[in-house]
Amino acid sequence: MKILENFQPQINTAEIRKRLHLSADSPEWKGVEKTIQDVAAHIRPKCVYKECHVDQKDDKSVTLENVCFQSRVLRKNLEAAQRVFPFVITIGAEPEEMAAAQSDYLEQYYLDTIANVALQDAIQSVCARLRKQYHLEKLSYMNVGSLEDWPLSQQRPLFSLLGDVEGAIGVRLSSSMLMHPAKSESGIFFPTEVSFFNCQLCPRKDCPSRKAAFDRQMAREYGVAE
Ligand code: SF4
Repeated sequence: MKILENFQPQINTAEIRKRLHLSADSPEWKGVEKTIQDVAAHIRPKCVYKECHVDQKDDKSVTLENVCFQSRVLRKNLEAAQRVFPFVITIGAEPEEMAAAQSDYLEQYYLDTIANVALQDAIQSVCARLRKQYHLEKLSYMNVGSLEDWPLSQQRPLFSLLGDVEGAIGVRLSSSMLMHPAKSESGIFFPTEVSFFNCQLCPRKDCPSRKAAFDRQMAREYGVAE
């Protein structure tokens, strides 16, 4: 297991403004810009990952170092992959503590949105680092629990594959398979020729975090839509 820390992702302010539906010259946005600076000072990104070889594949599962993951989508995404990178990443507990200490619901919402974007930026930062380190042209990733096909229960094999995640970066898995701190994500980076986003297979409407449009044809090809 490898640990990445002491990296500070560039927070994507344009994405935050888009998610909050604020115009650049609005007084609300000026306030949010100040909050972004405050949050940035309290972000503590850390990541653990492992370089793993793909041992085995069948119709609906993939085995990495004797740990089996059940997911048709993951199986299809790893069709040509020989080496992948399971990971857990967090930006730490401070952003959510800042939101919890805030009595104003709108401010809480702003803080939550900023933290969500910062977490995505941290993932992109790790992705860029792995690409460079392992000389990979493109890396995509799947998150545990983001699709019905790869449910939260699959956190258990992921954490067991990585080892002592809590000891390494302070991310604990609860009995309901949620991570603490909450602003954490877990999944598998895999090399790919065409970028893959979970959102392409997710029909959820009005999701503020959507990164790509739902593609029904693609979902059918992956066997997760009628
Ligand atoms: S659309 Fe939203 S809920 Fe669905 S996978 Fe994307 S981010 Fe997750």
